[in-house]
Amino acid sequence: MTTRVAVIGAGAAGLIAAITAREAGAEVTLVERTSDGGRKILISGGGRCNVLPSVSAPARFVSEASATLVRAMLHAWPLHEQRRYFEDELGVPLALEAESGKLFPASNRARDVRDALVQRARDLDVARWFGTAVDAVTPIDGGWRVAMGSRHLDVDRVVVATGGLSVASTGSTGFGFDVATTAGHTVHSRYAALTPLTASPHPHADLAGISLDVGIEARSGRERASSQGGFLFTHRGYSGPAVLDVSHVAVRSLQAGGPPAEVRVQWTSLDAAAWTARLQSARGQVLSAVAGEIPERLAARLVEVAGVPLDRLCVQLRREERTALVEALTSCPLPWTGHEGYRPAEVTGGGVALDEVRRATLESRRAPGLHFCGEVLDAFGPIGGHNFQWAWSTGRTAGRAAALGTGTS
Ligand SMILES: Cc1cc2nc3c(=O)[nH]c(=O)nc-3n(C[C@H](O)[C@H](O)[C@H](O)COP(=O)(O)OP(=O)(O)OC[C@H]3O[C@@H](n4cnc5c(N)ncnc54)[C@H](O)[C@@H]3O)c2cc1C
Repeated sequence: MTTRVAVIGAGAAGLIAAITAREAGAEVTLVERTSDGGRKILISGGGRCNVLPSVSAPARFVSEASATLVRAMLHAWPLHEQRRYFEDELGVPLALEAESGKLFPASNRARDVRDALVQRARDLDVARWFGTAVDAVTPIDGGWRVAMGSRHLDVDRVVVATGGLSVASTGSTGFGFDVATTAGHTVHSRYAALTPLTASPHPHADLAGISLDVGIEARSGRERASSQGGFLFTHRGYSGPAVLDVSHVAVRSLQAGGPPAEVRVQWTSLDAAAWTARLQSARGQVLSAVAGEIPERLAARLVEVAGVPLDRLCVQLRREERTALVEALTSCPLPWTGHEGYRPAEVTGGGVALDEVRRATLESRRAPGLHFCGEVLDAFGPIGGHNFQWAWSTGRTAGRAAALGTGTS
């Protein structure tokens, strides 16, 4: 008998789940709140959609689960096969952006990715109930009832691919967390991740618009994250990939109500020893030596922060001034007070506990016949295509397992 599968949510994970389930022979209904689906794909990568990374980085994922479990789920669909799927099966050639290691559609149009996925679902005769919000998922005799207002759908298996809480305009409401909680799952507390930090008062507001590549580290108790890459001063605080990558440590420190995370920045590729040597050997003004490596307005700010007069010559630099300046250049405390929350957050941290779903099928250990995939699960990766990699991999696993009705492993 053909397995009837309902996939809730036509985002990245749900679209792949529906396609895979159909290809594996199931009768599939894809239910989506918005009128078109895949809205996060459309706004991703600044409208270019960073479909995948060129190198997988499971160790950089954040989850309450073991790194081994995250790795297994992420690599269930190997990266090179994902790439080949997009290029050969969906007809979306990808191009490598060499400096960032990110893969984008060669067209640089996110719409091409979203449309190719929706078109594949259409070609496979996946029933698409778009503009339809699911409001309840309940077990019935031998299967599940998916309720949408006055309508309902009775199926053998359900794939929950409803995403998290970030960027509500893309259809995210956190519904999948409620489904999981009702089914008896542990849902780790949610938090905005990959989101800009704010400062109020903002001592560096006048630097808004300045961007540069930095190294950054956030620490709070035993939690720590570091990143290297773009940093942007904004009118309200700080953004850019490097800031987003460590923002969850800051967000979680506020959520925990303890002392705020300490965030420190290394503004150039030179470390403390290299800066010390440079300041000892340079002639001319300290400001010129620093401005040789970073934008001049930021250089002036750091010299000020270190308490060094702007007209100081390198040869006149006192030892304590040099020590303070080297610290400001290589381990500069970033004054921050808050964050922008879910409104611009690229992902939601926390979610359905990974050890409560079966690793090879993503089927619930609490409620057989219910599968979870994508952002609703408790794992997210850094900026760079890693979150779509997670969505494609877990979506495929869940869709395939739901179609084949295999729940044990
Ligand atoms: C601005 C931005 C840029 C990003 N850029 C990138 C990038 O370049 N590369 C990258 O790897 N990642 C990027 N991400 C992250 C990536 O978009 C997400 O990790 C990914 O979309 C998660 O996929 P998902 O299918 O789990 O959830 P979503 O894409 O959020 O999809 C969930 C779907 O479920 C639907 N839904 C929710 N509740 C219901 C309900 N009750 N009934 C029916 N439907 C429902 C929603 O409408 C939505 O369509 C970006 C995110 C943002 C916000």
